Amino acid sequence: MVRLLSYLSGSWLSGEGTPSILVDPSTEEPMAQVQGGGLPVLAALDHARRVGLPALSALSFGERATLLQSMAKVLHAQREALLDLSQQNGGNTRGDAKFDVDGAIGTLSAYAAVGQELAKRVGERRFLTDSAAIQLTREARYVGQHVYVPRPGVAVHINAFNFPAWGTFEKVATAFLAGVPVITKPATATALVTFRMVEILVEAGVLPAGSLQLICGGVGELLDHLGPLDHLAFTGGSSTGLLLRSNRNLLRNAARVNVEADSLNAAVLGPDVAPGSDLWRTMVRTVRVDQTQKTGQKCTAIRRVFVPEAHLEAFGADLVEALDDVVVGNPLANGVTMGPVSTATQLRDGLAGIERLAAEGRVLRGGSARVEGVGAPAGKGYFMQPTVLEVADGQAVHELEVFGPVVSLIPYDGSAPAAAGMIARGQGSLVSTAASDDRSWLETFALASAPYLGRMLLLSKQVAEKATPPGMVLPSLIHGGPGRAGGGEELGGERGLLFYMQRTAIAGDRVIIGKHFGEDKAQV
Ligand code: NAP
Repeated sequence: MVRLLSYLSGSWLSGEGTPSILVDPSTEEPMAQVQGGGLPVLAALDHARRVGLPALSALSFGERATLLQSMAKVLHAQREALLDLSQQNGGNTRGDAKFDVDGAIGTLSAYAAVGQELAKRVGERRFLTDSAAIQLTREARYVGQHVYVPRPGVAVHINAFNFPAWGTFEKVATAFLAGVPVITKPATATALVTFRMVEILVEAGVLPAGSLQLICGGVGELLDHLGPLDHLAFTGGSSTGLLLRSNRNLLRNAARVNVEADSLNAAVLGPDVAPGSDLWRTMVRTVRVDQTQKTGQKCTAIRRVFVPEAHLEAFGADLVEALDDVVVGNPLANGVTMGPVSTATQLRDGLAGIERLAAEGRVLRGGSARVEGVGAPAGKGYFMQPTVLEVADGQAVHELEVFGPVVSLIPYDGSAPAAAGMIARGQGSLVSTAASDDRSWLETFALASAPYLGRMLLLSKQVAEKATPPGMVLPSLIHGGPGRAGGGEELGGERGLLFYMQRTAIAGDRVIIGKHFGEDKAQV
């Protein structure tokens, strides 16, 4: 059995204590173990400060871009082996494994491109300007300029089980480009892929010393020792997020904390979308993909579908039919199109969640019983059926995130304000989708629902076939959401760097400000 080690202060180390066992969720066979107690995390923090920070700070944006590109290249060279691991430890189909692993490599490359653009704009500078200088008084020589300078701290990243590759490297990409060293901790249950990716990078010798450290196991007292210029970026459940962001030391020091948490993402069918039309079929397909991809274990997956009352039955029937060809089982077996959920806890919580939703409605397909998986040993594996419910506009559907292949259809009156009001009942979400060819409906919906969303997708006939699915997080757009979704923000191209930078207003002589801190040296 593989023994997962942590990479701390330049060495591979095991912790102590009772081992946690990582299993193949299709067979429940043990794959790896971690002893993650008592790790020397404070020495690692010191190593990041003393070694990693100077090494990354010394690099220009262009050099950091080259670093990210090299990381993407060496990981890509091992892509097939990483996909195999992801299939086994995550219960992923090949496509789902690519979503995670290619997503990680693609995001590193995308941020390499952001870095190259920055290098063209700011050359050897290590800071960014924020819009133009402002004249502060009647004296034209006296101006103020906002700049973003790198915060000379460390980033601690704590990630969820569902994206051990992408979740790790979408965070690393932005921190590295900003010049901040990272200590990353994957969720233990699926840490095998992250462990191997870090191992590949260390073996390839591409990482500046101290820039990336890995904790397989517990973070111990690490958060109690972060300082005012350090960062915690967390992805996971909202109760863990609440616990971590309430850490007294983080609060006392006002260390930066970003939380990406649960989300009740929605899809809304506009009242003009006729059954059987292209847009209707796009919505059925979009919901089906979101529901079954990664077995619904995506923070961005559609959970609630708002359908005009008159079309509820037809939409339900079409979605159920679209799910007919889903084959649940061991992703390594022929013909399987949807794997298990990743852990026994996820299975238990997912099935209980369906029961709670069903109490407020009815099950159109699937249900709260565990199923046998094709190609899996009898009675083994964490398999759920793709489940569709029709639920009244009640309580549970706007409160409970069932982290599996489960969607609820909810009737509404077809008006844009009503749809936006139902979006709002999710208390803040990562992403939602609306389909309509009525521009004024889309405008009203978009403006009313935007405060409750980090991202939205407006599907109309011009883009329906070309649009990326809502579950796909793009490095160029922000990822995060208000309220329940954690209130955080990641990615968004250059915006992703700002979490690791300090915006400082500098007031002074227009000539000095312009020459040393203005955006474009050529204009001074
Ligand atoms: P989780 O139980 O909250 O765990 C998330 C991470 O926190 C894991 O690495 C876990 O480590 C760690 N952790 C737990 N307790 C901790 C503590 N006291 N101190 C330090 N670290 C601690 O969540 P999960 O089950 O992995 O993920 C599922 C949830 O994540 C879902 O609710 C989903 O919506 C959310 N999610 C959100 C996003 C997003 O971008 N918004 C993305 C993916 C998932 P161990 O595994 O070692 O316990």
